[in-house]
Formats: sequence, structure tokens, C-alpha cells
Amino acid sequence: MPADFDTIVNLSKRRGFVFQSSEIYGGLRSAYDYGPLGNAVLRNVKNQWWKSMVQYRSDVVGIDSAILQSRQVWQASGHEEVFTDPMVECRNCNARHRLDKLDNADQCPTCGMKGQFTETKQFNLMLRTHLGPVESDENLVYLRPETAQGIFINYENVRRTQRLRLPFGIAQIGKSFRNEITPGQFVFRTREFEQMEMEFFCRPEESAQWYDYWLRTRHEWYTDLGMDPEHLRIRTHADDELSHYSAGTADVEYAFPWGWDELEGIANRTDFDLKQHAEHSGEDLRYYDQEADERFFPHVIEPAAGATRTTFAFLIDAYDEETVNGETRTVMRLDHRLAPYQLAVLPLSKKPELVEPATQLADRLRRTYELEMDVTQAIGRRYRRQDEIGTPYCITYDFDSLDDSAVTVRDRDSMEQDRVSLDQLDGYLAERLSPR
Ligand code: ATP
Repeated sequence: MPADFDTIVNLSKRRGFVFQSSEIYGGLRSAYDYGPLGNAVLRNVKNQWWKSMVQYRSDVVGIDSAILQSRQVWQASGHEEVFTDPMVECRNCNARHRLDKLDNADQCPTCGMKGQFTETKQFNLMLRTHLGPVESDENLVYLRPETAQGIFINYENVRRTQRLRLPFGIAQIGKSFRNEITPGQFVFRTREFEQMEMEFFCRPEESAQWYDYWLRTRHEWYTDLGMDPEHLRIRTHADDELSHYSAGTADVEYAFPWGWDELEGIANRTDFDLKQHAEHSGEDLRYYDQEADERFFPHVIEPAAGATRTTFAFLIDAYDEETVNGETRTVMRLDHRLAPYQLAVLPLSKKPELVEPATQLADRLRRTYELEMDVTQAIGRRYRRQDEIGTPYCITYDFDSLDDSAVTVRDRDSMEQDRVSLDQLDGYLAERLSPR
């Protein structure tokens, strides 16, 4: 059973997954800080994306481009002109809303008044700053609203230096910024967030086939990492919803507590971006096919996912409660590749005769696995804490361990316990966990 909204937000704060940014100063709206556990899950989500999109593939390479780019990039891409959301303001309560996200386009969801909206204004979402000491128009730069353009402007550098032939992809993970009109739903919509994007360049006539391929592949990525297929769906955009560059877009959507909402967009961007940058920069960004002796602009399929938003969805989906011996047990059934810790090492008592060998064991296992050692409180409470943060295996070092050189390994999901001899522990864990 996935968590309701308040449960997951409370657990995130209580256990150190996510904190409000600048909390000691009353909080900065729509910005969040990831604590030790949230940072671990976020990093694992990004690592899993990188493994499946770059490391395990021979046809995709990765880059890390600058957040600050020439203003011309955003003029060429069309963002300066059309990266806008329709905004209305309520004359009664002054609340601002994004018109396309309202259930009733005539009624203010904040104060409930009807017929009080101002004319719709197109609000540009790019955050602005200035480079250098003078705040002039010439020094204006934007904080990138997507990582994709950093890929397009490096297309030729990457293709040439890596000697890439079509079809191939360029991937990137990084921060993006949007001055959202109505941020909210915790980390779902924030003004600073992280994206995981890949531009897959192919021959124009193969683009439909690659679009289908990436739609399938991306959907599988979520289910392979344990997301319930019933909570996922693919929604194809209607023609009037399409972005200015797109010949087809579908979203991977998740059943959030407030309803279906986007995790990732997969778009057929055609040759729009490369053509625009070629025209605005004067560089020839066409691909040269030696065999056919022809030059053309490749078409592009883009799977664009949100790392922070996806992390939130994985947490919601993993949340579970069950009754064990008349008590409620909260358990995060996170896939072991995503859980903050893969292991917890728990000496049964605080006595040095147990803590010392348990510490040695933990220090050895840390070289391969992410783990936490926890010495405080009764063992039952420590198990419950590890269940609640999703640790797949707890290793308990007890008084018998001193004699039999074995430990008890407890499985988070089944709560079954195995007695495993220390010289077989590495093999036992290797069968169940992958190193990070
Ligand atoms: P929306 O319609 O929800 O504003 P979008 O369609 O503009 O989103 P894209 O431009 O397709 O979003 O961005 C790709 C992905 O980046 C989204 O699917 C989402 O996961 C993530 N993303 C976009 N905006 C935000 C945001 N403000 N906060 C967190 N993640 C975001």
C-alpha cells in the first residue's frame, strides 16, 4: 500500500530524508534539502539511471555541462520566447495560479471566489541572474530550465571526440531551475530540482521506432526497480498539449496521492534543436554519412525524467504498513539498489566484547556495501527503525557469535532470520545485494 501524502512527508522529516530549505529561518518555499537518507536514495536513483542509460549501453555516453550558458542558447531553443506558463491572479485574494492546472478555470482554489481572475499572462519560467558586477541586459544569463540544451550545444564536440556514429545518445544528470508559479506537493514541484535526461540521435526515418523503444525501456526501468506496475501508466499528449519542438510526446505517470501525475516525458524532438542551434550559431551541425555521402540533421528522441520527483515516487510506492503480533510495523520496501543502507550491523548489547568485533565486521563490509552500525536501544526497536528506513538486511552480532563465529541475518520483508557463519557471510550477501 503506497503512503498517503502526510505520512510520507512526516516520515521524510522525522527520519532525515528531506528537510525544508533554510528551516531555521522559517523555510524557503519550494526548496528542499536532502538529509543523509534522502541524499542516499536520490544518489541511488541517479546511479541506477546512469547505469541503465550509460554504463550498460554501448551507444550512449555521458556529459556534465554548465548550468550557466550563453543567453543565445535559450534564444535559439525558443525558451526565451515560449517557455511560459499561463498565469492568472485572483482580484479577491491576490493568489496566483497556473491556469492549465486549475480544475475550474473560473474559480480561485485559494479563496473560492468565481469570476475574479485577471487576464491570462504568459509567465516565463526561467530564473535570471547577471554575470559580473553590472546588472545590465548584456550580462543577463538564465539558470538552465532543463539539462537538454547543454547536450545539444555539445553535440558536435561529443560526436567528433568520441567518434560516434548514428544512432547514439548523450546523457546528463544535473540541476535545473524553473520559477514555477505554483510549486508544491513537497518535492514534486520545486523551483530547483534535478533532472536525468538523454538525447538519442538517430536517422529521421528511424525516429518512430526509437520513440517506441524508449517509451518501453523507460517504463521498464521503474518496474524493474520495484515500482508497482499498477501505479504507472503511459499517457500520450494530445496535439494541443505538445511543446513547441515536439512531434510526439508521452509521459510516464505515477499514481501520486493526489492523482496521476508526470514522472518523465518521452518526446520526439525531431531535428528542431540541432537546426535551431545550427542557424543561430552558424555552425554546421549536420551529420555526415560517409557511406551514402550525405549530410542531414539527425532526429532526436528524448527521455527526460526528474531525479528528485522520481525519488519521491519511489518512497511513496515503497511505503507499507502491516500488523505483526498485534502491532503496526512500518516498512519501506525499497529495492536494495535504492535503499539508503543495504545493511545494518547491530551488536546485541553495548558491551565492548560484542561492539568491538561488530565494529570490525562493519568496517570490513563498508568497503563493499553502504551500511549503518547501530548500538543503541533494544534490538526490536533497532529492527523497526531499519524497517522504516528500508534497510534490506540487519546483521546481528550476539553472544553466541563469540563462540560459533556466526551472525544472524534478518530479512526486512519476510522478517526471517538465517544464522550465517562469518566465513560464508560474503557469499551470502553477494547473492542478495549488488555492490554500489
Ligand atoms: P510540468 O508539466 O509538470 O510542469 P513539464 O512537462 O514541463 O512538467 P519536462 O519539461 O518534461 O516537465 O521535464 C522533465 C521532467 O523533469 C519532468 O517529468 C519532471 O520529472 C521533472 N521536472 C520538471 N519540472 C519540475 C519541477 N518544477 N520540480 C521537480 N521536477 C520537475
